[in-house]
Amino acid sequence: MTDSIRIPLIAGNWKMHLNLAQSVELAKAIRDAAGDSPSEIAICVPFTALTVVAEVLKGSRVRLGAQDIFWESQGAFTGEISASQLADSGASYVIIGHSERRRLFGDTDEAVNKKLRAALGAKLNPIVCVGETLDERQSNQTFRVLETQMAGGLKGFAPADLASAVVAYEPVWAIGTGVTATPEQAQEAHRFLRRQAAKLYGEGFAAGLRIIYGGSVTADSVDGLMSQPDLDGALVGGASLKAPSFNRIVHFQVPSKAV
Ligand code: PEP
Repeated sequence: MTDSIRIPLIAGNWKMHLNLAQSVELAKAIRDAAGDSPSEIAICVPFTALTVVAEVLKGSRVRLGAQDIFWESQGAFTGEISASQLADSGASYVIIGHSERRRLFGDTDEAVNKKLRAALGAKLNPIVCVGETLDERQSNQTFRVLETQMAGGLKGFAPADLASAVVAYEPVWAIGTGVTATPEQAQEAHRFLRRQAAKLYGEGFAAGLRIIYGGSVTADSVDGLMSQPDLDGALVGGASLKAPSFNRIVHFQVPSKAV
């Protein structure tokens, strides 16, 4: 397993924040600071901001993403957005199975699996989120939860189908809490997830799979996290809403993965 085959991905998750003018301003600041960072950069914006932010990012190296998707291609599904509608809006990434979707809106592993299939069908790059709650960690259920979410979410594909898929390890206890997993805790979970990926789809697939970390990543914590061998990037919530912090995260500094 080498790091060199996995290009780091730094993805911002704006959640339900910012109006259109603020979205344009932030997207411009991120675009203009991207420079020649070898990391891939994506910003996952609210549905309503997709088209305006797409305009800002046109011709730049910052990719546009959405925060959820519905699995049907069209029809009477009030309030939902299909994969082709996302692609049509300029998105190339989509977050699937974020813990807020799982906890507040009932997304199951089966739903994650269907959303993943829809995203891949529309050539969107899916970011599939998995992660344990604090209770689960404290009762030594972390690996069991990660195994179940990986197996359920990613089941039924050929390895080649999943070439563009990214897995985000997002311990629920670290999301929006200001409590970041230590680099060692994150590495332990990422190594476990890579082993699960190998069991599901083989060593070659696992070696190429990007597994990114999310959970209170900041400009101060990113370098330590990214120094771990199985961390291939970050999914960033709060710190992606301000250009200086997100841009510093994009330009993380680790000798072997340096920007
Ligand atoms: C997230 O929303 O995926 C996230 C990791 O949020 P935060 O960075 O704010 O913890």
